This record gives sequence, structure tokens and C-alpha cells, in this order.
Amino acid sequence: MSKISILIPAYNEQEVIDHLYQRLGKLANDNKAYDFEFLFVNDGSRDSTLERIKYFASLDNRVAFVNLSRNYGKEIAMVAGFDHVTGDATVIIDADLQDPPELIPKMIKYWKDGYDDVYAKRNSREGETWLKKSTSKWFYKILQRTTNIPIQIDTGDFRLLDKRCVEAIKQMRESQRYTKGMYSWIGFNKKEITYDRDPRIAGETKWNYRKLINFAIDGITSFTTAPLRLSSLLGFIISTAAFIYIIYIIIKTAIYGDPAVGYPSLMAVILFLGGVQLLSLGIIGEYIGRIFNETKSRPLYFVEEYHREKTDKKTHR
Ligand code: UDP
Ligand code: MG
Repeated sequence: MSKISILIPAYNEQEVIDHLYQRLGKLANDNKAYDFEFLFVNDGSRDSTLERIKYFASLDNRVAFVNLSRNYGKEIAMVAGFDHVTGDATVIIDADLQDPPELIPKMIKYWKDGYDDVYAKRNSREGETWLKKSTSKWFYKILQRTTNIPIQIDTGDFRLLDKRCVEAIKQMRESQRYTKGMYSWIGFNKKEITYDRDPRIAGETKWNYRKLINFAIDGITSFTTAPLRLSSLLGFIISTAAFIYIIYIIIKTAIYGDPAVGYPSLMAVILFLGGVQLLSLGIIGEYIGRIFNETKSRPLYFVEEYHREKTDKKTHR
């Protein structure tokens, strides 16, 4: 019997985790042809999320959990999950039920047909602001243009991965992770299914604009060096223009003399060039920062507690 692991990163999800557990339980009962494992990764929650998970685990031997030593963020929580799943396939799902578990049987069906990565693409984003929708659209557009790998638009982490995809991603131990790009980068057979993303049923989103901007920068800097090229290009264009301008000024002065005006244009040019230089330095800095972080090669996370039912009996409750 194939085993499906459901991987759930959870951070302060006490309001929704019971619903999620019920829906997953129902899913498993409706699909008796597979073994299920529910692996919760508690990402340093400060509410009663961990107590709830422990309670589920005491009732149900399909429930396993990893309790991380602090809040590491969803990307790292997912690595911790990948490191601990035991299934032949793994489905990553958000704790807030924005990803309907009812889609999982469909994913499993495609997996059985031979696809390794069945990802769910959102049709609609109900309950999200216009600003979030349009910024995310632009972000994907830029990323797609500048990287050579196709990155799936409007696709989150809700997907089924075959064991070999999980093994592949586990080998990528970088600390500033952009998992969405990694799914594309590893390749294998991909299949898209579409769904309507529901608004979060309770609790609050853990994202804010600061986190999203950081996420976007991580995404771009971990998959493309195009911004570095952009700053060289900008430097080239500006210095060429400046060179032509200088020749023009020399000729003009030779013919008409120099009435010593032009302070404003001088200021403008200096400020503009200063700005461009700072921008380029910043871009280079981003990459150096990444190099710095990766060369430390620290462990990605620490586990406080790991629980899995040792007995392999198939009964529960
Ligand atoms: N999450 C996490 N660690 C964090 C932030 C979020 O494990 O630091 C989990 C969260 O519990 C949820 C998933 O990641 O299961 C997605 O989070 P959220 O719903 O806040 O993001 P959104 O759906 O708004 O993108
Ligand atoms: Mg959510």
C-alpha cells in the first residue's frame, strides 16, 4: 500500500488546526486505498497549536510532528518537514485551509498516472486585496523574464511531490530559500490542476508587506544574477551618455566660450550618478550577503521534539 504524507507547516494556527485535522481525517477515511501520515511542523507557535497537535497525536497514530526550536519561517519549516516525511509521496498543505484537502485525491490520481509533481494553480484569490494580487502578478512576471527556468504563476506550495522530488529538494540546503523556484528547478514530470483558493477560515495571515518584499528579493537573488547584469548595463549606458555629453561640452566651449553657467545640470548629473552607484552597490551587496549567509553553512533548523508512532500497526483510535 502506498503511503501519502501530508506535510503541514503551522505557526500560531490554534483557531484552524482542529478543522484541518477533521478534514484530513475525513480525507483519509474516504481514501482507504492509501496509508496516510499527517506530519505537522510546529514552527515555534506561541499559542496552543502544539498542544492541539500533541492531542491529535495521542488519539491517532497517523499523526507525527516535528516541533522546531523557534519560529524559522515557512520555507525552513517545509525543509524540516521534507527531512522527516516517510511517505512515497508528500502533499504540502497550509494549515489555514486555504488549500482544500478535497483536491488531494485528484493529485494522488495523477501521481498514480506517473506524474512526480502535481501542483495546484489558483483560479481566484478571494479574500485577498487588490494590491496583493497585482504585486504578486508583477513579481512573477519579472521573475519569469529574468530566470531561465519556468516558474509557475499563481501557484503556491500546495502540491503533491513524489519521493524523488522530495529527495532532490532535501539536497538543496541553502538557508535563504525560495522553494517555489526549487520545484521548477528540479524538473521531473509536472502536472497542473486548478482550484479556487478560499479565504483563510480563521486566524490571521502571517505575511506582511515587509516579509513579502524580503521573500521577493530572496526569490530573485536566489535564482538569477540578472540584477547584477542590469547594474553593469546601466553603468555602461550612463557612462557612454556622459562621455558624449563631455565631448559636446568641449566643442561647445571651444566655439562659443564658457559663460560658466550649468550648476543645476552639474548637480543633477552628480546626484543621478551617485544614486546609480548606490543602487549598484546595494545589488552587489545583496549577493554578497547571500554568499556570506551560505558560507556559514549552519544547520537550517533545530528540532525541539520529534514524535512518530513507532509501531507500524494500521489501526487508529
Ligand atoms: N507558516 C509557518 N511559519 C511562519 C509563517 C507561516 O509555518 O513563520 C505557515 C502557516 O501556519 C500556514 C502557512 O505557513 O500553514 C501559510 O501561512 P499564511 O496562511 O500566513 O500565508 P498566506 O496564505 O497568507 O500566504
Ligand atoms: Mg494562508
